Amino acid sequence: IVSERISFCLNILPLFFSFKESLKSLFLCASNSVNLFVFQWEIVQTVVNGSPLYTYSVCNVDSSDQDNWLRTTFIQRRSGASRVSVELQFVVRDCNTFGSSSVACKETFNLFLAEADADVGTNFRKGQFRKVATIAPDEITQGNVLKVNTETKTVGSLSKKGFYLAFQDMGACVALLSARVYYKTCPSTVQSLAVFPETVADSLREVEGVCVENAIGQATPRIYCSAEGDWVVPVGQCQCLPGYETTGDSCQECKPGYFKSSVSLASCQVCPRNTKPSSAGASECQCEDGFFRSPSDPPTSPSPPSAPRDLTATTLSGEGRLLLSWSPPLVTGHRPDLTYSVACSICDGTACSTCGERIRFETDPAELRETNIIVSDLDSHLNYTFTVEAHSGVSQFDPERASATVTAALDYTDPPKVTSIHLEKSGPTSLSLSWSLSRERDVTTYTVRILDKSFVQITDLTPDTPYIFKVQALSPEGTPGSFSTEHEFHTSPLAEPQIQNNSTAVLGAVVGVAVILLAVLAFVVLRRRLVTAHFTSTVNPLQAYVDPHTYEDPNIAIQKFVTEIDPNAIAKHKVIGVGEFGEVFRGVMKTQGRGEVTVAIKTLKPGYSEKQRQDFLSEASIMGQFSHPNIIHLEGVVTKFKHAMIVTEYMENGALDTYLKDHDGEMSPYQLLGMLRGIAAGMKYLSDMSYVHRDLAARNVLVNSNLECKVSDFGLSRVLEDDAEGTYTTRGGKIPIRWTAPEAIAYRKFTSASDVWSFGIVMWEVMAFGERPYWDMSNHEVMKAINEAFRLPAPMDCPSAIYQLMLQCWQQDRAIRPRFADIVNILDKLLRSPESLKTIADFDPRVSIRLPSTSGGDGTMFRSVTEWLESIKMSQYKESFARAGITTMEQVLALRHEDIRNIGVRLPGHMKRIAYSILGLKDESSSLSVFAV
Ligand code: AMP
Repeated sequence: IVSERISFCLNILPLFFSFKESLKSLFLCASNSVNLFVFQWEIVQTVVNGSPLYTYSVCNVDSSDQDNWLRTTFIQRRSGASRVSVELQFVVRDCNTFGSSSVACKETFNLFLAEADADVGTNFRKGQFRKVATIAPDEITQGNVLKVNTETKTVGSLSKKGFYLAFQDMGACVALLSARVYYKTCPSTVQSLAVFPETVADSLREVEGVCVENAIGQATPRIYCSAEGDWVVPVGQCQCLPGYETTGDSCQECKPGYFKSSVSLASCQVCPRNTKPSSAGASECQCEDGFFRSPSDPPTSPSPPSAPRDLTATTLSGEGRLLLSWSPPLVTGHRPDLTYSVACSICDGTACSTCGERIRFETDPAELRETNIIVSDLDSHLNYTFTVEAHSGVSQFDPERASATVTAALDYTDPPKVTSIHLEKSGPTSLSLSWSLSRERDVTTYTVRILDKSFVQITDLTPDTPYIFKVQALSPEGTPGSFSTEHEFHTSPLAEPQIQNNSTAVLGAVVGVAVILLAVLAFVVLRRRLVTAHFTSTVNPLQAYVDPHTYEDPNIAIQKFVTEIDPNAIAKHKVIGVGEFGEVFRGVMKTQGRGEVTVAIKTLKPGYSEKQRQDFLSEASIMGQFSHPNIIHLEGVVTKFKHAMIVTEYMENGALDTYLKDHDGEMSPYQLLGMLRGIAAGMKYLSDMSYVHRDLAARNVLVNSNLECKVSDFGLSRVLEDDAEGTYTTRGGKIPIRWTAPEAIAYRKFTSASDVWSFGIVMWEVMAFGERPYWDMSNHEVMKAINEAFRLPAPMDCPSAIYQLMLQCWQQDRAIRPRFADIVNILDKLLRSPESLKTIADFDPRVSIRLPSTSGGDGTMFRSVTEWLESIKMSQYKESFARAGITTMEQVLALRHEDIRNIGVRLPGHMKRIAYSILGLKDESSSLSVFAV
């Protein structure tokens, strides 16, 4: 590397430690330059981008056995900063440019670090240094234009008073331009009216704040400082004292003529009528002479109105009309000028938009004096949210604007009319017909068949789609009998191993189908056949899921979505599990069409409160809205009987996590993939219905005797009182940390994209046969690792394509995670080409998780094989190892897969644990990388 050489010197070294504004100097005494000790590195003036720079250079490419070291002076560490980053700028010359004489030439150098409690001066000992990283250039310099590389390495767990960095060259042609050493802080901030001090960003760390001047809080305000220097998850809120209002990040005195009587976030209000103007910072306004306020009168009197009550929406006859009606608010503030305003929005589970011009209010919704209004031009596919506010002349002072909200959809009972029928095609044995409807309801296709036999096979259906069927018999004279009840049947998903031929439905005459619309067609063939079956298939565009909580009376939600079952039709046989509300039984239910069917019966334990009963039944109101082969099917509920029960289809193999643990290693990746495909199809259905599950995990998936998987656990007490994994977060809600996407943990952004993250974890659980995600790492460690971009490694023997999909689901940016529709497509593709599963994902110890029990790095932490086996809970193999002559950790480190098997470890789970542990032990850098992607 060219340029003028300057004389070798030890001390004056213009290596730059330029600190960005947000980064703090780590060096308390070393000022802005750091001296380096040089062993065969030289200071060279180099021209980079036209400017001369001093660099440390070494270029002994033509002799082997190079070992050239360059060391910084002692760098003091600020206490608290146990993680520092080292940013290096350097140039490396291409070995090829030196010709054949440079056989020993290298293109990398190494970064080392040694901690020390005191400056050891020039006493340099290689052995004291530990390697941090091999530094390799992204761009190699070949010609005269120098390619400057920048590389940053982070070193953690520093504990001594300071440290030295060293650079080891083993035969490269390197010029070091700068080394910048820094740590990050979360800058001092004001959030929720609390001041938080500048904090060293180390690992996720909880920081306490103090309320700003003239504010108080109920509890000490807290917030987390992330390893990246960002403040996350603030907890608690300070509020301004009486006489003060929130202005930006501070509490300011109320202006003269205004007052504020309580500790709150509210603004100061104008002094009410008949009071004297107040001075600045007033907590109340004195009454004018001759006016009085009784002790029970609020200082704000006359107050703005409270929210309207009993808001309801009723479908009116005629096209697309609803009547909204409500009762006047409880508190009117004794003012005669009470009016109402009505607003409409459409919400899709993640965002709401205003209805705007799409609907019409039959009177002006801005200044209503009546307590009702008619809304028209509504679309029968949509759910509308109406918000009604009451106003009076003092509403402008009310920051809260109390309102009532109702979510409503058109609820038609009258069927649409068939307005015309056309003959599309006629042949000797067939007729093709089409018809139009006065109003399109959730029907996209119809098929009609006339049969003279008692069964039918329908082909060419769409996989994984619900079809509704109804059968009608015709007499020899052609008189139509009554239709059977509607039955919904679902075609199976494509390529699920156990059910390949799915685009076919076989119907017996007893289970007929057809929507009401079909009846109009019956005459077409009336005279010809003895028994005529008509069926129609309908594909329902999915209705959005309705949160039962939006019903003021939860019993109405239950009536709307759930069938009531006669308790006498149910018999409990055996306890199969325990849920939050009571025991779960296997039992039977007598049905009209299907005889006795085996069912699961969830019971509500005695001594429940009304709230618990409603929470218990809310799961049924949610489940009752779903109909999909991969969602647990609700048969109905018993509510009229003393002990409420929820009856669902029975899943012979119970919860998926337990099933997998019990069958560790017994299923092929192909079979596991089939199960995952089912779960993904169920989740796609839920996300299409705008339902966000929030607790998708293998323990909440049930498996039947065909190994079909169905998503369950739709409790409303969810998030997540009934889940042992639920951990209280700093905001008081419970979240199953290791299954939950970071944005949902940090700020409760639960969406289908956060469900996709959980699905990735379920994929991992399935491929690892029910292994606990992140093993015995604590929740705190898991959050920290995820924050630092680490991800779970591939399970043993996991096809690479499946692991790649997991990683996609775990993208930090939720917008770029795949959607469930994409996941189903990808899984289908893999199932169609099993050879795509042959490539197994690498288990790379350098970038993968270290088992917690192996943390420590190099195996030397275990004094004996026994101690090691105990630490990974595998001590049952002590004798087997001894018998095989494996008595030292060196021998353990040399073991290969076959060796472990030959020692006598056969169970796949045990094999896995032992092999992982050995990989972790071999991993030199395990103390640095947990599982980096
Ligand atoms: P849950 O309250 O839904 O978590 O149910 C508790 C336990 O009961 C589950 O972990 C299952 O073992 C069992 N269980 C619940 N529902 C069913 C079902 N439909 N079929 C079989 N077992 C079930």
